[in-house]
Amino acid sequence: MTAPHTLAARDAGAIAGNQKLRFFPLSVVSGQGSEVRDETGRTLLDLSAAWGANSLGHAHPRVVAAIQQAAANGAGASVLSAVQPAAVELAELLIGTFPGAGRGDRRVLFGHSGTDANSAALAAARAATGRDAVVAFRGGYHGGFGAAQAVSGVFVEAGVPGDPASVLLPYPAQESDLPELWRTLEDVLRTLDVAAVIVEPVQSDGGVIVPPDGFLAGLSTRTRRAGAVLIVDEVKVGLARTGQLHAFQRSGIAPDLVTLGKALGGGTPLSAVVGSADLLDRSPASALLTTAGNGVSTAAGHAVLETILSDDLASVARDRGNHLRGLLATAQRDTGEIADVRGLGLSLGIELQQDPAHSDRQADDRFTHRVIYRMWQLGVVNYLVRGNVIEWTPPLILTEHEAERAVDTLRTAIVEVRHGAVSDADIAPYLGW
Ligand code: PMP
Repeated sequence: MTAPHTLAARDAGAIAGNQKLRFFPLSVVSGQGSEVRDETGRTLLDLSAAWGANSLGHAHPRVVAAIQQAAANGAGASVLSAVQPAAVELAELLIGTFPGAGRGDRRVLFGHSGTDANSAALAAARAATGRDAVVAFRGGYHGGFGAAQAVSGVFVEAGVPGDPASVLLPYPAQESDLPELWRTLEDVLRTLDVAAVIVEPVQSDGGVIVPPDGFLAGLSTRTRRAGAVLIVDEVKVGLARTGQLHAFQRSGIAPDLVTLGKALGGGTPLSAVVGSADLLDRSPASALLTTAGNGVSTAAGHAVLETILSDDLASVARDRGNHLRGLLATAQRDTGEIADVRGLGLSLGIELQQDPAHSDRQADDRFTHRVIYRMWQLGVVNYLVRGNVIEWTPPLILTEHEAERAVDTLRTAIVEVRHGAVSDADIAPYLGW
């Protein structure tokens, strides 16, 4: 095929702008392990596995084999129309990973995306309680359209119409934020008919914020006392990334509903809500989607979950995360532009500032964009959240050598951008977001 344009130019003429969140002209024609290959044949280290839903890395042999086998087997049916083994096996395996009593009463509701999982969870909570209001958090991300988007702080704060029945509370970054938050929450729970409280265990798109100890436990107690449903959105940080299989386990709570997505499908569209039969069997909450729970996606999901469990990738994420944090702490001591490093396991945030002596959010945001652009030029894929926070969600299989390459490239990019390596004109085409 002779392409008259580069892939990026053809993409611009063919795919809806609404579906793009681009920071540089990255093309990906293939991937292997922690690396992707672009159309020029260059290989880049991918630190964005939780954006791209490839927690096990690209083309993991067990996931590839499961997909090939399921496709060749030809069962194809969705859980909507037939009982089929891959979906049942994945649901059973998933339920078995949830701690505590009551497993026999748990169910899994399959979807395709984090967005539909959260929308279905909200619908289930509303149907079960007969109430409408939802408590969510500023800076939260639960979905890219519909009901889940309407309770997503990042969108509502940016002017997307919010759910009129929802209330956004501040997400706590430290323990001293809690007393005020509890007062406001208790007020809201007393005065509104709250169906659900929806929360990320680590707030990713809001700036990689790890809440203080006691946050999820306090939220759970208050939500339950008010007769509302607690939905924990593990779409981005779930499935071992934080160093525990489920991020909520760190808090010792038992959420009513947990949503999973992204990594679950190993790159195929798959999401799940896990919770009590009481909540998920109700017909008004049904999420009848033709291909939800299809044989190929659930076979991929089963291979993903089995690999995470058999290779103990939660421990790997914890160890590799500690190693990366150590390297980043040294880089921070050497580099004035690194203002903060935070996160849990392999969900990390690196906050940048252009000038340590002078705070200017717009300048910091532009600086951060230039740094991730330069890193793309140097062969590392990473993205930013909340303007000046670089989010690293590498594959759970990241090697020590790759971790070192990531931090070395970050250091180089910062120094080069400091000296003018990337111009405003370079990043101008990508500032629309
Ligand atoms: N929840 C969280 C926490 C997310 O980060 C995202 C995606 N950024 C979603 C839900 C939505 O998932 P999807 O894009 O698969 O609809």
